[in-house]
Formats: sequence, structure tokens, C-alpha cells
Amino acid sequence: MDALHASFLKHLAQTSPSPLALDIVEAEACWLTARDGRRYLDLVAGLAVNNVGHRHPCVVAAIKEQADRYLHVIPYGEFIQEPQVRFAERLAHLLPAGLDSAYFVNSGTEAIEAALKLAKRATGRTGLIGCRKSYHGSTHGSLSLTDNEAKKFRNRPLLPAVDHIAFDSILDLERIDTGTAAVVVEPIQGDAGVRVPDPAWMTALRARCTATGALLVFDEVQTGFGRTGRRFAFEHFGVVPDILVLGKALGGGLPMGAFISSHERMSLLSRDPVLGHITTFGGHPLACTAGLAALNALEEEDLAANAVRMGALFKQHLRHPLIQEVRGLGLMLAVDLGDAGLVQQVVNRCLGQGVLGFWFLSCPTAFRIAPPLVISEKEVLFACAAIAQALNQA
Ligand code: PMP
Repeated sequence: MDALHASFLKHLAQTSPSPLALDIVEAEACWLTARDGRRYLDLVAGLAVNNVGHRHPCVVAAIKEQADRYLHVIPYGEFIQEPQVRFAERLAHLLPAGLDSAYFVNSGTEAIEAALKLAKRATGRTGLIGCRKSYHGSTHGSLSLTDNEAKKFRNRPLLPAVDHIAFDSILDLERIDTGTAAVVVEPIQGDAGVRVPDPAWMTALRARCTATGALLVFDEVQTGFGRTGRRFAFEHFGVVPDILVLGKALGGGLPMGAFISSHERMSLLSRDPVLGHITTFGGHPLACTAGLAALNALEEEDLAANAVRMGALFKQHLRHPLIQEVRGLGLMLAVDLGDAGLVQQVVNRCLGQGVLGFWFLSCPTAFRIAPPLVISEKEVLFACAAIAQALNQA
């Protein structure tokens, strides 16, 4: 172990007893280069962040240009900061009516927290509903909505009045009632091991929320920005949420989250009390500039379409007696081996062959494939060959 590795373990708080501890010195498009010169094809994309690839030239140029103008000048919401306005405007133009006002924060979990507050304010109700096997973040409110007891039990008490319904169960929708402020749903569950619901459930979910006056909150932190083959995953289902929560790829590689709703609903945060939700760094000009440049690249290069093509190629080539199922849409895929030990072996062996795969929080029998959406056919075939070889050796 070299000195940097030792210092990493000693002076940075750790989140697991056995971090991968890859020492990356450079990243470009779909490739990571380690200090020892080894290169890795990235099938993780910083956990669904680097949708336009690492260091997209347009994103880097936009960041440099903004860095020459100003960095942080004032907490969110006071000054007109052009990068914030331009980004919010662009998002509003791409989203359906009713999702025209954005509030920028710094992470996915922070956006969930704020969405819960907004839903309570807007409905005057207190009930919150999440789905079984969901993941929404690590802070108290998001963790309350998350359904992973192993991650929750040492942090209780969490938020009261939180119920969990089964994902994709029409029967459970009855539990949404006139006491429900918000139903928070990942339109495609991510850390549950990539679960795509029946469109009929999504339609019924929307109808039940409308009938009871509960606000439907879509957590598209992981599914947003072309990952599933559409700009946003809700477009697969023809169902529009009342509040949209974004993060990860939103900032083009810089930390950022957002919650988006109607102008009328969002205006509640500015009165009674004023400053109903505030953040110092939310909508940082660098992050907004990077996010807008990434969104432009996503659109111009039609990366959602590439996600569809490359996702299909993965599904076509990931055929092996040890693979039970390849689930998902676009480049949000889970390769289920039905065995947690086998997943460990395959992920480790792939790493040895220069292919970085990763685990799920709540699905130990599968590993994820979620590369930058710029991945090429040649790179997909390289990854599939490495996975097949790892499976043959397992
Ligand atoms: N929601 C979903 C669906 C996520 O996948 C994540 C992160 N994995 C979050 C929320 C939390 O985002 P962050 O880590 O930026 O707080």
C-alpha cells in the first residue's frame, strides 16, 4: 500500500470496510486511468452521473468560462445569476406544462427533502408514502422514505407518518388517501436492482394521486437525462408527476440536485414564512453552467437514442448459462446472476480485465451496467467479452 492509499484510509472517513480504492488520475469519455497506468472501461458512470461522458469538452469549456467570471456570490434566490436562469429556463422548455419552476440544490437527497416539505405545504397534509425496496438518499427525510431497514434501524426515530406500498401493485394504491401529502416513486427503481413497472400501474398511480389530492413525486435522480433511453423515465409511461426530483447527471459531473414543479406551487416557499426553503450553495453557477452544457450535449448528440441502441446490444450479447436475467431500459441495466457470491467474483474479475462494474444497494444477486451514454459499439462488445470471460472463470 502506498502513502496516498494509507492516508485515504486514515484521514478520509470510510463508508465500507473494503473500498475499491482505485487511484484515478484521469477520466475521459468512458475510460478511467489509474496512477499505475491501468485503464478501465467505466460501466458505472460515477453512479449514473457522467451521462455525457467524463470531461465532455463542452462541459469543461463552459466550466472554465464561468470560472473566469464568478464563482459563489450569494446564497440561492437573491441575485440574478445568469447560469441559474438559463438552466431553469431550458429545463422548463423540455418538460411538460406544470413543471416550469426549478429550485436548485446540491444533491439528490437534498432535493427529496425539499420536495417533501413542498408537498406538505401544498396539501396541508402530513402523510408520506414511499415504495418497498426504494432508495431516495441518506438524510433523515429521504431515509424515512427509503425502504432498506438495514440502513435505517440505527437512525430511528425517523419521520413519522411514512407508509410503504409495494412497487407495481395496483392493490396497494388504496393506501393512498386524503391524508397523503406525497407519494414518492422512482419511475424505474434503481438500487432495488433496476425494476421497471407495468405502465398500467403508473397510470393507476397517477389516477389515485389525482383522485385523493396526493402529490405524485417522481424521483428521477438516477433515471434522468437519457439514462433509460428517454430524456426522463416518466416519458416511457405517459405519466407526469406533480413534483420532479433530479440529481446525479443534472450537474454534468458537478454536484447538483433540483426539484421542479409549477410556478404556483413553488411560490409557497417564498411566503408564510418567507425563506421557506433556503440553501447557501444551491444552484452554484459552476454546476448550472456545467449542467446546461451537458444537457445541450445530451440533446445534440442524441445520447438517449444511443442508450437505447447500446442497451439492446448489451442485452443481445450478455447471454451465458450463469446469467439469469438482464433487466432494465436503455443503459440502466441489472445483470442478475441469482447469487451474491458469484456477483462478487464477476465484478472483481472484470476489474482485473479493465472493466468497472458495480453493485446495487438492495439487490446483492445482480450487478449494474450504467456506463456513460456515449459508449460505443466496440466498447460494449469489449465489456461483454470481459463479463463472459469472468463468468467462464467463475
Ligand atoms: N434518489 C435516487 C433514486 C438515487 O439513486 C439516489 C442516489 N443513489 C438518491 C436519490 C440520492 O442522491 P444523492 O446521493 O445525490 O444524495
